[in-house]
Formats: sequence, C-alpha cells, structure tokens
Amino acid sequence: MDLYEYQAKDLFAAHGVPVLPGEVADNPADAKAIAAKYGQPVVVKAQVKTGGRGKAGGVKLASTADETEEKASAILGLDIKGHIVHRVLVTPASDIAEEYYFSFLLDRANRTFLAMASVEGGMDIEEVAATKPEALAKIHIDAIKGVDAAKATEIADAANFPAEVKDQVVDVIVKLWETFVAEDATLVEVNPLVRDPQGKIVALDGKVTLDENADFRHPAHAELVDKQAEDPLEAKAKEKGLNYVKLDGQVGIIGNGAGLVMSTLDVVAYAGEKHGVKPANFLDIGGGASAEVMANGLDVILHDADVRSVFVNVFGGITACDAVANGIVAALEILGDEATKPLVVRLDGNNVEEGRRILAEANHPLVTVVDTMDNAAAKAAELAAAGV
Ligand code: GDP
Ligand code: MN
Repeated sequence: MDLYEYQAKDLFAAHGVPVLPGEVADNPADAKAIAAKYGQPVVVKAQVKTGGRGKAGGVKLASTADETEEKASAILGLDIKGHIVHRVLVTPASDIAEEYYFSFLLDRANRTFLAMASVEGGMDIEEVAATKPEALAKIHIDAIKGVDAAKATEIADAANFPAEVKDQVVDVIVKLWETFVAEDATLVEVNPLVRDPQGKIVALDGKVTLDENADFRHPAHAELVDKQAEDPLEAKAKEKGLNYVKLDGQVGIIGNGAGLVMSTLDVVAYAGEKHGVKPANFLDIGGGASAEVMANGLDVILHDADVRSVFVNVFGGITACDAVANGIVAALEILGDEATKPLVVRLDGNNVEEGRRILAEANHPLVTVVDTMDNAAAKAAELAAAGV
C-alpha cells in the first residue's frame, strides 16, 4: 500500500526523521486557516499517490493566508496523472540551499535491499539515473546486518554528501532504515532531502510503500487506508476475505488456486481478442471452495457493472468437483434473483463425473458446462460479447 506524503512524513516523525509540521485540508478555507496558524509563508501540496506533483502544478508557495486559499483552490480538483486532488498539505515553507535524494527499497532482481543516494536531488531522480548514473550511489544492504552508523557513513560517502552535513545525514539514514524495518516498508523515499540555509537537514517530501503481507503485525496501519479511494468491489471482497483484484474487462473470473486463476486470465484474454472483451477480475477462492465462499465470490463479481459473463474454472483436488458443483448450485440459490449473468463452468480433476452430473441435474438456466479450459474461455468471451 502506497501512503500519501503527509502519512509518510508522520511515520518519519514517529521514528525521529526531521520533517516540518503540517496539516491537511480538503477545502480552501481550511487551508487558509492552517496557514494563518503558522503565520509565515507556507507550501500548499497536492496529496496524491503519484510523483511529479511539482511539475504538474501541485506544489505551490504562498506568502499569506489569503494566497494559501487561492493556491489551495487552484490545486484541489487538479488531475495529476489520473489522480484527482482531494486534499492538500499545508506546511511551513523551508528555504532550500541544496536538494538531495535518498531511498531504501526492496531490490527484487537481486533479492536484497538497496540504498540509493544522490546529492543531485529535487524533481527528477529518474533523469539523474539515466543521464548521470555516477551521481546516484547504490549500496546493497544485508537484511540481517541492516544499517548502523558505519553502514550509513559508507552510503553517505559513496554519494559524496558534503562534510558539514554528513553527521546529520548519517543520523537520518539510520532513522530511515529504522522506519523501513519497523513499519515493514518496501520503499522509503525522500526527495528532496534538503539542507536549509542554516545547515539543517530536513525531509521535505516523503514516499512510503508498506508491505501488506505484514499488516497483521501493524494494527495501526489499518488507519492509513484511504477508504474513499478504495475500489468498492475490492473493499467488499476484502471484507469477505476473498483474494480479489478488479481489472477492466467484461468476463468475470473465479478459480481455485492462484496459478490456475492466472492462466485462466491468459486464456480469457486470448479468447477475448476476437470478441473485444477482456478478463474483469482476478479471484482465487482457494482450496476449500465451499458454497458460501462460492456465493461470496459470485456475489462480488455479479455486482461488477462491467461484467457480462462469468467463467468458473475449478480443478478438483482436496475439495472434489462434486463439492464444488454443489457449491455452485447452492450459491445460485443463495443469490436468487441477484444472479443475472451467464456462467460458464469448467470442472476437472477429482470426482469430475459426479460434479458434472450434479450441474446437469440442477439444469440452471444461467449455467453452461464446458469440458475444456480453452473452449470454456471461448464460450465465456462469446457470451460476454453478446451481452455488451
Ligand atoms: P514532487 O514533485 O511530487 O516530488 O513534490 P515535492 O514535495 O518533492 O516538491 C517538489 C519541489 O517543490 C521540491 O523539489 C522543491 O524544489 C519544491 N518545494 C517543496 N517544498 C518546498 C519548500 O518548503 N520550500 C521551497 N522553497 N521549495 C519547496
Ligand atoms: Mn518529491
């Protein structure tokens, strides 16, 4: 889960990383009131989960409270790379002598953690990486040893941080590592990390990605979820404990096992090319496909307004095909009139004959049983195209 800048900086502050105070407003009048409280020039910053806000006009300096109101009304509602600005952060403006870049991230390709640092921070670190790679230090971090003052010094030296700020930078690096570990982050980025004219180091921007697999260790992280921005279908699926990801197609997908569901997405995408339709979602109902889980899954998918047909692709293993077939029949009973879209069911594996017999006997008007995965995908795509 990506955090907003203000949330990232709250976490930084909690771990002792120097940041400026700030408050969030969702309307210009509140922004003005916050500025009046600080009584000094402020920066008004769009809170959206994407970078390059500065370039897009989402970061503006305001010298007075009235000007803050103007700047906030200009920024609120902006579309920054497809993200609409609903809130702004109002924070005292800092004078900037130098802008640096720092991040810790998960380096998946090398199966390790990585520190990246540069004294050429500011807006475009991607450009620095592309055109002046020597200006961006990359240091691998041993997950067990972590980052102590000695390691932080190695990183600061590799990036050529000026001697007069080195002690502060080393301290910030150690604290950012503490943040990274303690919060189970996969990314902690500060751009810019600034030196102000008085020589003080401050994190002026913050980007944090939390590892959702570690949510169980962090009850407090639940509060960081932006309920408003969450996809309602994904929120509903999460509530029901389903492994669901909304996509932008028309063929709903239910399968058991992540691997099977992924290959189902592939065959549906392939079959759909001819009909101009695509998979509408990923949904893995796992090994124990009980009627209730099947009903929950169908419930979520059938309420996706984009869905025109549903492909249920199950390989009977520990939960045999007859149990799954009973689950489908019971789920359709539970859903009653709410089930309105055609279902293509492909069953294979343990007890497949009995499973198919149960579906044939139930003879539900919405259900078509197809024997192979490819043919089922083609049928589901065809039905979706017919229903558009
Ligand atoms: P981003 O463009 O989304 O990365 O947003 P940032 O928070 O990094 O802001 C973009 C740029 O605005 C920074 O690189 C700074 O140059 C500038 N900026 C942000 N805050 C301040 C501030 O307090 N004072 C000054 N002078 N400039 C700021
Ligand atoms: Mn930035």
